Amino acid sequence: MRKRRPNHRLVKIHRSYTVEETARLFCIHKNTVRDWFMVGLPTCDRKRPTLILGPELASFLKARRTKNKRPCKPGEIYCVRCRAPKRPAGDMAEYQPITATLGNLSGICPDCEGMIYRRASMAKLAAIQGNLNVTFAEVEQRVSRRESLIVNSDFSQG
Ligand SMILES: [Zn+2]
Repeated sequence: MRKRRPNHRLVKIHRSYTVEETARLFCIHKNTVRDWFMVGLPTCDRKRPTLILGPELASFLKARRTKNKRPCKPGEIYCVRCRAPKRPAGDMAEYQPITATLGNLSGICPDCEGMIYRRASMAKLAAIQGNLNVTFAEVEQRVSRRESLIVNSDFSQG
C-alpha cells in the first residue's frame, strides 16, 4: 500500500493556512500536519491559531517529495523521525541476525539520536554497509553484555 503524497501544487503561495485548512486541503489528519512542524515545516510563531505561509508549505512539501524518493545509499540508514537517510553516528552499525540469511542493521541517528534500522540480508550486507564499521551481535553475547553492564553500574559505587 502506497500513501498518496500531498501535492505541493495545491498550495496557493499568496495565502497562509491554519493546521485545519492544511489538513482539509490534502485530506489528511491534523496530526500529520503537526508532525510536519516536528520535521522542519516553519510556522508563524506568535500567531494563534498557528499559521503556515503558503510559499513555505509548498517548498516544504516539494523538498519532502524529492527527499522521499531518494533511496538509502551504501552506509546510510533511513531515520523515520528525521524522514531522511542518515549515516549512523560514529559510522558505526550493528548487525543483528534474524535468520541465518537475514538481519537488521541498526545504528544511532546523528541528528535525533534515535535508533535507526535497516533490513539487510547477509548477501547484500557488504553492498549496504558501505564503509561503516559493522559489528555482529550474537544474542547470547548481547544478553551477557547487558547483564555485566547492570552489575557494573549497580556495584561500581560500593
Ligand atoms: Zn533522526
